[in-house]
Amino acid sequence: MIPWATYEAMHGASINQPEAFWLDAARRITWKQAPVTACQPRADGWHDWFPDATLNTCYNAVDRHVEGGLGEQAALIWYSCATKERQAVTYRELQGRVAGFSGGLRSLGVKKGDRVLIAMPTMIETAIAMLACARIGAVHVVVFGGYAGPELGRRIDDVTPKVVIVASCSFQRQTAIPSAPVLHEALAGATYRPQACIILQRAACPAPLLPGRDHDFHLLEQSAPVEPLMLRSEDPLYILHTSGTAGAAKGIVRDNGGHAVALALSMALIYGCGTGDTFFTTSDLGWVVGHSYGVYAPLLSGCTSVIMEGGENTASIRALCLEHAVTCLFTTPTQVRLMRQESRNPAEGVMSTLARVFVAGEYADPTLLDWARSYFQRPVVNHWWQTETGWSITAHFFGIPEPEPITLVNDIGRPAPGFRPVIVPSTPDEPCGEIVLALPLPPGCLAGVWKDKAFHVPVGYLDDSGKYYRTFDEGMIDAGYAVHMLGRSDDVIKVAGRRISGVQIEKIIAAHPAVHACAVVAVPDELRGQRPVAYVVPAFVLDCASVSKEISRHVDHALGRWVGLREIRFVDRLPTTRSGKITRKKLLVS
Ligand code: AMP
Repeated sequence: MIPWATYEAMHGASINQPEAFWLDAARRITWKQAPVTACQPRADGWHDWFPDATLNTCYNAVDRHVEGGLGEQAALIWYSCATKERQAVTYRELQGRVAGFSGGLRSLGVKKGDRVLIAMPTMIETAIAMLACARIGAVHVVVFGGYAGPELGRRIDDVTPKVVIVASCSFQRQTAIPSAPVLHEALAGATYRPQACIILQRAACPAPLLPGRDHDFHLLEQSAPVEPLMLRSEDPLYILHTSGTAGAAKGIVRDNGGHAVALALSMALIYGCGTGDTFFTTSDLGWVVGHSYGVYAPLLSGCTSVIMEGGENTASIRALCLEHAVTCLFTTPTQVRLMRQESRNPAEGVMSTLARVFVAGEYADPTLLDWARSYFQRPVVNHWWQTETGWSITAHFFGIPEPEPITLVNDIGRPAPGFRPVIVPSTPDEPCGEIVLALPLPPGCLAGVWKDKAFHVPVGYLDDSGKYYRTFDEGMIDAGYAVHMLGRSDDVIKVAGRRISGVQIEKIIAAHPAVHACAVVAVPDELRGQRPVAYVVPAFVLDCASVSKEISRHVDHALGRWVGLREIRFVDRLPTTRSGKITRKKLLVS
């Protein structure tokens, strides 16, 4: 594999010699039939990565490490903030359990291409179910374990799974929520009928098994082990629904080969992690970060992955980092805000093994990142992601000797290999606008969108020319090729014809010491078309009137009086999606 000396050389090669670049990256993966072509246009106008090469993702994530001598290394370490249970599995144990569960799925009639819906909390068994699907070529569809019946029913109708897997309960904080009623409601509401359900019994709340429909997860694990099935690179590995921040949830389809190559490359290039390192993402496995960096990327790279049920627990995160000598922590700005609120001793974030911290998923204000740097006394960097892309579009690259002092950087980084962002300004002389990505997208991004039992070209994401993928995010690109994010396109506020993004205003508000979190939305204004209104969660009890005045003054001073932020509403919390992103639209109706 080529060791890239500079960012420019690496990114330049990925754009100018994409075939050579990606075939080199593909050497990180063990193929049955190695690729000779990297990218090939598809008949439907989209493109395939490593067409006709064959591999098995589960084999690459599990078996090859056992064969390579890592059998006794911990593959997954799990901790439940709800039940305080913990569990670790070595690569060898994982291989046995996954191979057995694959046999169990086969015994229920699951074949290559069949969908398997997994509605479980973040647990080792969730990863086992995902990997078992990958092993036999079934397509896993992991949905958030806390969905209500009707929402789960809609997902069942969307992907028509042969089998549905649930845990007997999930947890909201320490309270057990039994799954049986949710599953019952989902199946009663869905038009489609799965052939079987698998229940993982949890001690806190076992579920009665319905004869003829339900099967016990652990019993199925005892089935005769199944060898990995070799698949074509472009065969689908999974479907994952978008969180719905950009409209109705869509089923994003990921392939096998491109996904494995992109994730393995990203671990080395972006996260600076390799065999033996310990990677900890606080994300639920039901979200894209959980898929990519809770399960696939760390396992493809021979790392130990720490996963956690029930997030937003600073003490547990710190304890897990210390106990398992975590090298890389990947979390969200919301989690870091919580750490800031809960931390009493400024030195408690310092951990000798922790090398770097990554945040993504929502806007992170510079004040927060600066606080995190002094807390961890390590580089803390922000990077930009979408469910659709599966890995970061822009990042900072710890696998390349970087000339820039990354500890000071607050932007979302420079484009990852193969990504070519372009700004589409709303007026020709503006530096900001929607960020679009030139096609083809690099490996690991969406292979299509799921609809009517097949995957299709993601038409809704293409611009009029059909040459660019629309991110629906706004931003700008500076002279150093760093991308600056201004938020979703529909979060842009137009005050008397002048555009300002809510994020630009939020950045100023968040720097006020009395502010824990904030969100800015546009409301109609008779005179100016729109005006900004800020919602602020205070960090402590305060004199709202005087803080409001100070915030308005700071915004006037930093951005100009024309912005006219005069209305600041203090609230206890901001509405968020299940994955923790602020839903500004809900503020508008509140
Ligand atoms: P999702 O697909 O649910 O993960 O949401 C993706 C969206 O989250 C992006 O399109 C952005 O709007 C937002 N997002 C992700 N990462 C960042 C980041 N580092 N800074 C600001 N917004 C982000």
